[in-house]
Amino acid sequence: MARSGKGVSEVHILWISEGMSCDGDTVSITAASNPSIEDVVRGLIPGLPKVHLHNKVLAFETGEDFLKPYRLAAEGKLEPFVLVIEGSIPNEQINGEGYWTSFGNDPKTGQPTTLNEWIDRLAPLAWAVVAAGTCATYGGIHAMEGNPTGCMGLADYLGWDFRARSGHPVVNVPGCPVQPDNFMETLTWLLYEAAGKNPPIPLDDNLRPTWLFGKTVHESCDRAGYYEQADFAKDYNSPKCQVKVGCWGPVVNCNVPKRGWMSGIGGCPNVGGVCIGCTMPGFPDKFMPFMDQPPGSTLSSTALSAYGRMIRGLRGITNSTLNREPKWHHNRPRLTTGYEPRWGR
Ligand code: SF4
Ligand code: SF4
Repeated sequence: MARSGKGVSEVHILWISEGMSCDGDTVSITAASNPSIEDVVRGLIPGLPKVHLHNKVLAFETGEDFLKPYRLAAEGKLEPFVLVIEGSIPNEQINGEGYWTSFGNDPKTGQPTTLNEWIDRLAPLAWAVVAAGTCATYGGIHAMEGNPTGCMGLADYLGWDFRARSGHPVVNVPGCPVQPDNFMETLTWLLYEAAGKNPPIPLDDNLRPTWLFGKTVHESCDRAGYYEQADFAKDYNSPKCQVKVGCWGPVVNCNVPKRGWMSGIGGCPNVGGVCIGCTMPGFPDKFMPFMDQPPGSTLSSTALSAYGRMIRGLRGITNSTLNREPKWHHNRPRLTTGYEPRWGR
C-alpha cells in the first residue's frame, strides 16, 4: 500500500455500475466542477492522494484489460481502494435458474459473475464503500412495489451495520441522478480522510453526508418567499411556490435548490420542476402519484398562514416516514414486493 505519513498516497476507485440502473450517475458526475472528476484524476487538487479511476463508461480499456484491477482487488493484491456501486442490488436468492445482473465472466467456468458476487468479494476489502445515486442507496425506481427482482439498496444488501476498513458504513449519496458536486464532494472528503487529512465523514441515520442532506429542499428554494406569503402557483407556468401543483420540497432532504445542478445553474423547484423526493429512502413509492398534492397543499392560503406551527409539526412526521424505506427492501430469500407474474414462475 502506498503511504505518506499516516495516510495513503495512492487510491484506486473501483466503480461498478452494473446495479439495476441507467448509468445516469456516472453521466451526471461528468458535469461536476467542485471538484471535477478530471481535476481529481489529473492530481490537480492539493493534498489528495493520487487517484486511479476505474469506471467502464469513462475507461479506455475494454474486456479483461478493464476487469484486471477488479480481479486483483478481489484477490487482495490491489489496495487501498474505494468501491463505488451504482444501481440497485437485485436479490439473486430468488433468480430462479438465471441471474439478474452481472459484471464480466468467471474465467474458470465462463459463466457470468453476478454483481452480488463482486460486492461480496470486494466490500470487505474496501477502504470505503460508496453508493452513488438513489438506486444504489435505497433501491430507487427498480425497487418499487411489485418489482420481480426483489432489488434493494447497498446497505440493505450488505447490512446497515456493515463496516469497511475505514470503519465507515456504506456512504450513501442519493439523487436520481446524484447531484454531481454532491458526489464529488463526498468522494473528496473520503480521499482526504484516506490521506490522513480529514476527520471521519459525518453521516446521518440514513448514511448520507450530514452537511449535504441536513436541510430540506424548501429551506433553500428560491420560491420560499412566495410560500411564506401563501402565494401559490396554480399551474407550472408561474414563478410562485409550487406546493399546490405537487412539490414535496417541505419534507424532502436535499440541497439541490441551493447548489443548482451544473455550475450553480438549475435546481428542480428553482427552475419550475416540482420536487418529487428523489433523494429519499421512501422514493418513489411514498411520493406517488407524482404531481399529486403533498401534505399541506390542499389547505387554503389563509389556513396555511394561520396554522404554520401545526404544519411544521406535521411536516416533521411526514419527513420521518419518507426517510424510511418500504419493508420489501430486504436481503432475505423471499420476494415480498407483491409481484404478480403474468405467466408461470
Ligand atoms: S416550490 Fe416547493 S420547495 Fe419551493 S417554496 Fe414551494 S413548496 Fe417549498
Ligand atoms: S429537489 Fe427534489 S426532485 Fe430535485 S434532486 Fe432534490 S430531492 Fe430530487
